[in-house]
Amino acid sequence: MVYIMKRNWLDKKIVILGLSKSGIAAAKYLCKQGAECTISDSKEANEADLKVIDELQGMGISVEMGQHKTETIEDAYLIVTSPGIPPTADVYTVARDNHVQVISEMELAYLETYKPFIAITGTNGKTTTTTLISEILSNGDLCAPACGNIGIPATSLLDEDLDYFVAEISSFQIATSKTFKPQIACYLNYTPDHIYWHGSEEAYRATKESLFIPPHAPVWGVFNACDEVVMAAAAKSPSDKWYFGREMSRQCCYIKDDCIMFKNAKGEESPLINIHEINIFGEHNYQNIMASVIVAKIVGVDDEVIRKTLREFKAPPHRLEFVAKVDGKSYYNDSKATNVDSAVRALEAFNYQSITLIAGGRDKGASLAPFVDAVKKYVNNVVLIGEAADYFEEELKKGGYTSIKKADSMEAAIDLASQLGDEVVLLSPACASFDMFNSFEHRGDVFRNYVLQKLQKG
Ligand code: ADP
Repeated sequence: MVYIMKRNWLDKKIVILGLSKSGIAAAKYLCKQGAECTISDSKEANEADLKVIDELQGMGISVEMGQHKTETIEDAYLIVTSPGIPPTADVYTVARDNHVQVISEMELAYLETYKPFIAITGTNGKTTTTTLISEILSNGDLCAPACGNIGIPATSLLDEDLDYFVAEISSFQIATSKTFKPQIACYLNYTPDHIYWHGSEEAYRATKESLFIPPHAPVWGVFNACDEVVMAAAAKSPSDKWYFGREMSRQCCYIKDDCIMFKNAKGEESPLINIHEINIFGEHNYQNIMASVIVAKIVGVDDEVIRKTLREFKAPPHRLEFVAKVDGKSYYNDSKATNVDSAVRALEAFNYQSITLIAGGRDKGASLAPFVDAVKKYVNNVVLIGEAADYFEEELKKGGYTSIKKADSMEAAIDLASQLGDEVVLLSPACASFDMFNSFEHRGDVFRNYVLQKLQKG
């Protein structure tokens, strides 16, 4: 157990950057501790914000919208920042010039509790794995809610009597944490992403890796043995190391003859569950499961509890979510596939069923080569939408793939896909959603609702 000195917040001026879920939770927590809080956001307030601002002001929290005033930043004792604000933002220069410390909301929660954190990071699979770990531990009679990047701010749980914080950690949160040191941390996988935010691929990779080396290094590190970048981080990590995805001499979880196997610290092997008993599918999901099994074993949850949870577990919405079968076609919503790797993983998961893929949106700047290869291997027809449609078409054609159609709305894309002869219609965009939708959830909801509408019409 690492003991941390709690701070005294009474009358301290704290600036919280971003009127976000995590920013609001941090402000409410600090305000209760007697701090003088200001939430500062560079965007103008919209209708919905005004209601929230009213409530916050009623609690004594000041809110400034439309700019981060220099005097507000200069005057702060501490700044708590939100993941959305990139490290290049001017507001950080003002903070640095005035020697004001900037921390993430996750780090604030960590500094304010003696309870252990289980951290889950990686480019893809964080939400699925965080949810699964939380469910296994909860079924094992532990209070271990999912929090962090998953949408439940860790500071909103500080008053609860928890056993563990099960925290989804994004690269943004690692970049803005200086002392955060989880007890267990999982590194699921690495592919280039969020390059715009971090400034370069190297910066993104170094940030992910930093969670596994001092000062952040967890007591136990859980690493994907099939991922070279993850293994390079493991080689530098002083943590007690556990591996998933490949058989090692000890401390690992892997699949043999369709069975999830576990090897303990002495190298003793035991079978846990057959993968066909589990609801979620695809190699990538088996990796998420193996990482979760290792965490559950480190914590000491019974095998029977782990098995029961795995049999009952359903993937969170928008992650290879089965929507409906309409006119013989199965529709899947994988709107959360906002990058190339997650879309490739989705295509691999369908075991060579014939697929019409709906893809496109706002391109994130990573190489499309793995996507083009996977489309050529697994996809009969592609329907492209959004800002990136022309670019995707060009890249696919350069790769020799020509079964391409384009649509100017999600509904039109589904209508087109429903005319084609494939067994599966999969929305797995390999792009961000913000060109046409408010969020990936909004994009997935539009897809799901229109498919269900088609189902009702018969
Ligand atoms: P994250 O929280 O890291 O974005 P999610 O669990 O929300 O991860 O899944 C995001 C997308 O990535 C979904 O499309 C999902 O099907 C896919 N995915 C889930 N797990 C993995 C994995 N281990 N490797 C690659 N892709 C994955």
